[in-house]
Amino acid sequence: MMDRRPVISGNWKMNHGPEAAASFFGELGSAGGAARVIIFPPALSLPAAVEAARGTGVEIGVQNVHAEVSGAFTGENSAAAAREAGATLALIGHSERRHVFGETDDQVAAKVARAVAEGLEPVVCVGETLDERKAGRLEEVLDRQIRAALTTLPSDGAFLIAYEPVWAIGTGETATPDDAAEAHALLRDRLTEARGEVAAAVSILYGGSVKPGNAAELLAADGVDGVLVGGASLRASDFRAIIDAAE
Ligand code: PGA
Repeated sequence: MMDRRPVISGNWKMNHGPEAAASFFGELGSAGGAARVIIFPPALSLPAAVEAARGTGVEIGVQNVHAEVSGAFTGENSAAAAREAGATLALIGHSERRHVFGETDDQVAAKVARAVAEGLEPVVCVGETLDERKAGRLEEVLDRQIRAALTTLPSDGAFLIAYEPVWAIGTGETATPDDAAEAHALLRDRLTEARGEVAAAVSILYGGSVKPGNAAELLAADGVDGVLVGGASLRASDFRAIIDAAE
């Protein structure tokens, strides 16, 4: 469980249908040696990704789950179905879920609980908006988000955290290694306060405009245990270059 290999994860968002997912893994080849490698395809492409990733060492996660077990929630995906389709992780509380779809800290915590109950390892995203950062509220926001998630995150440390400053996502604007180190230190403190020694098992990833050209310096920043990559995870060659930066 104490897997603190660097984690290179890709969030495809609403990109890549089943065919594109299959070709991606064909092109990527094997991965997941010195680094732990994870891809979050859109739900409809998840079975194809699971199939194509078999034997490559890449783990597959779902981008979102509903907090309820099942029921009348048209258009939503349950954690149990994601698990059955072959996902082993669940991305929860991505900033687009929080800011575009209005997910609250309480909903994030409830989704974490559901994912864990269904056997999915949660990857919880936290991060401040530009306004919050400018107003000097970085610490307050991260503190609130991480505390809420910790109410349901498993006590054994079998989860990951992704620090994704909202202003750096999809904008080409990247946090400096120092910005990342500051936020990661804060999150590491909260994890240690809440979980004691177990917190050492938890990887904290940085996300926000990570690319082949900046991955190495971000991965070298203090306290950065890996990256969560959006745009640059769509092409196998770019994603491979980021994996190589960690190995
Ligand atoms: P980006 O997205 O790498 O395209 O900025 C990161 C994310 O949203 O996880």
